[in-house]
Amino acid sequence: MLLLVDLDGVVYRGTAPVPGVAELLAARVALGDDVVYVTNNSMFYRTAYVTRLAEMGAPVSADRVVSSGRATALYLREHEPGIRRALVLGASGLEREMRDVGLDVITAAHAATRMSREGIDGTDAAGRPDAVICGLDPQLTYARLAVAADAVRAGARFIATNRDPTYPTERGFQPGAGTVVAAVEVASGTVPLTIGKPGPLLLEEAARAVGRGAREAVMIGDAMSDIAAAHAVGCRSVLMLTGVTTRERLARVAAAEHPTAVAADAAELGRILQELETSPAGEG
Ligand SMILES: [Mg+2]
Repeated sequence: MLLLVDLDGVVYRGTAPVPGVAELLAARVALGDDVVYVTNNSMFYRTAYVTRLAEMGAPVSADRVVSSGRATALYLREHEPGIRRALVLGASGLEREMRDVGLDVITAAHAATRMSREGIDGTDAAGRPDAVICGLDPQLTYARLAVAADAVRAGARFIATNRDPTYPTERGFQPGAGTVVAAVEVASGTVPLTIGKPGPLLLEEAARAVGRGAREAVMIGDAMSDIAAAHAVGCRSVLMLTGVTTRERLARVAAAEHPTAVAADAAELGRILQELETSPAGEG
């Protein structure tokens, strides 16, 4: 089977591993499954996850970590070959993912500095980019927002890694990529194409990264947005109760939005995956 596995709330919670999940995934890979990790977090380059997951005993290589940033890069390479120069409003990991697929990247930080020093508008300062790629920029400034909005208004394709309103940290919720995207959207009057969950594109790119189709996947996640993404591609899903969603919350969700199965812990997930393996793929 192809297992698309969310990270925070499934494999680990903050810095602590979720008991048994890494070992279960290693056992599934030994049985022949493909495991690809999918996360809406766009801030880190994919190798940043490898050491951490390997230390937990999870099966991992850099190309089996598909963040919303990596998925955006893969999407552009596959579907938008005309885009050569990109303005990136986001973290350094997102810039690096864009450069990896051969894009000519200008950072919003660099363009904002040029804009003020040379007294030119944002899109000229950014070298008239073909696209504006927007994720969570933890060093966001007004000038960076202005550069991104100028470029979109001048006709650059506007693409968002994801629209999560918040980002969970040890000290509570911080503004997420969706907050930054909303600012550019309002300032430019343009709605972006969004790659991350709950839409289908992150899962599609993650499946394609290992030469598979997303419809045959089993999405394993702890948030209803993970399950929504599975419905969007038409694949099966398992909701883990080890993260942000409770049974009480699930009970209030319409039946059509429910996952294929619900697992309280790694042991239950293991039993569910054995059952799914013997039933045909496709949503059900
Ligand atoms: Mg999660």
